[in-house]
Amino acid sequence: MLPKTHAFFGLIFSFAIFLIFPEIGYFGFLIIWASSIFIDVDHYLFYAITKKDWNLRNAYLYFIKMNSLHNNLSRKEKRKLSYNVFCIFHGIEAILILILLSLFHKIFLYILIGFIFHEGLDFIYLIYHGYKLNHVGSQTYNILNYKKRF
Ligand SMILES: [Zn+2]
Repeated sequence: MLPKTHAFFGLIFSFAIFLIFPEIGYFGFLIIWASSIFIDVDHYLFYAITKKDWNLRNAYLYFIKMNSLHNNLSRKEKRKLSYNVFCIFHGIEAILILILLSLFHKIFLYILIGFIFHEGLDFIYLIYHGYKLNHVGSQTYNILNYKKRF
């Protein structure tokens, strides 16, 4: 899912949370919204680390290309295809760490809410397009799986 889509839905979601829980303030609203978008920084990190190229534009173009390549596959091909990308902020590990950290400071709770909302959208996107769900699953699994192949 593209960052602009996440930004749009993230804004609506964060605003709804702000209306329901006004005590979070503008700070909470902004952190939830920002984290629902910037969680995808891990895609850039994946690209930079595995391709040894820190150019942000190249990373963006790489994922745009991969996305359109994948979206042109049949549903059967997509199910077979393991989305061979590990994204360290997506998945259960980051959620568990944030749950733990949120016991110490509310900023981590806001980040956790933003991350969970983002991954919910990713989940719907993966289901809708017929992909495997490992993008929002265990990233330890994805990293180990990635290393085995290369
Ligand atoms: Zn995502």
